[in-house]
Amino acid sequence: MNPVFASLPTTVFETMSALARTHEAVNLGQGFPDDPGPEDVRARAADAVLNGWNQYPPMMGVPELRQAVAAHYARWQGLDLDPAAEVMVTSGATEALAGALLALIAPGDEVVLFQPLYDAYLPLVLRAGGVPRLVRLAPPHWRLDEAALAAAFTPRTRVVLFNNPHNPTGRVFEDDELELLAGFCRRSGAVLVSDEVWEHVVFDGRRHRSVLSLPGMRGQAVKIGSAGKIFGMTGWKVGFVCAAPELMAVLAKAHQFLTFTTPPALQHAVAYGLAKEDRWFEAMRAGLQRSRDRLVSGLGALGLPVLPCAGTYFVNIDLGGDPGVDDEAFCRLLVERHRVAAIPVSAFYAQEPVRHVVRLCFAKTDATLDLALSRLAGWRR
Ligand code: PMP
Ligand code: GLN
Repeated sequence: MNPVFASLPTTVFETMSALARTHEAVNLGQGFPDDPGPEDVRARAADAVLNGWNQYPPMMGVPELRQAVAAHYARWQGLDLDPAAEVMVTSGATEALAGALLALIAPGDEVVLFQPLYDAYLPLVLRAGGVPRLVRLAPPHWRLDEAALAAAFTPRTRVVLFNNPHNPTGRVFEDDELELLAGFCRRSGAVLVSDEVWEHVVFDGRRHRSVLSLPGMRGQAVKIGSAGKIFGMTGWKVGFVCAAPELMAVLAKAHQFLTFTTPPALQHAVAYGLAKEDRWFEAMRAGLQRSRDRLVSGLGALGLPVLPCAGTYFVNIDLGGDPGVDDEAFCRLLVERHRVAAIPVSAFYAQEPVRHVVRLCFAKTDATLDLALSRLAGWRR
């Protein structure tokens, strides 16, 4: 057996969702909305299943979707992508990440990653033979700084795996941090793989900036997106990869032997959805922002300090710097005794974990959030 997977525990998301079911808890752990997703997009998929083509679509994705992705990113992020050479459809961002890492890493190459890190990243890098170089971000600001980057980059750095907006911290990195990172990539020649699945879930008037628009990075960066996050239907598993043609050529080779393709009905529905009016996307953000504010103010009323949240479905509670505090024990107690499931942020660290931060998902109905808050009030007492 391959030791990377043989030694791997089940992901914290699966574990916490299973505990939530056992204890009939309100599940604010794994990130998925209560809302079923836009009805017109779902109707499009249903129609395409019944009346459309259900055999293999083209390996790179159906042309309508590749065009829709390019048009969508031109409209929202000012990108100029050639749909025929620079856009590929994958089975979720997870496949896109796996494919990009397999395609770009040769055994022994160094890969820069940022902790806290999304759970899939490290095993995929290790399985591809990469040597991880971890940059540690710490609360409350989780900022990228020059000294930490300088310590992580070496002449053997080939790939940088970045995530913005960032899960689990809810941070949207500032322009100066993005430019700092781009500078390190340009000087080392490393390819910047950027997981931008949360690009539409940004609040307080923020706009997402893709790595593809950073100076000098157009030919040296890979952008990854996910319809699951854009439309709040996390089970859909339709991802997008955007990169310059030379990079895309090799990314496509990895994709052809991972999944080869993605269900065509979902691709057609996503193409339709991406062309929806700006209003729909603005309303989606506004609704999630209201949910964020509801949970944050409820937690505040209970005296629980919350870290800032600029994007994603997640807010983080800061349990305080007491050395006795343990986020995992806290989450276990919370789900077993008080029936609220959350995610301990230490699970996102491979080294030197932060143990006093707990992630809660607010992409829920008011009733779900209020029930969770009333149970948390019991814990508080
Ligand atoms: N990257 C990040 C940062 C995520 O949060 C998620 C899912 N929550 C994914 C990738 C996976 O996306 P998909 O479901 O499209 O595979
Ligand atoms: N990305 C989701 C989260 O952060 C979980 C994805 C999964 O369960 N694999 O909660």
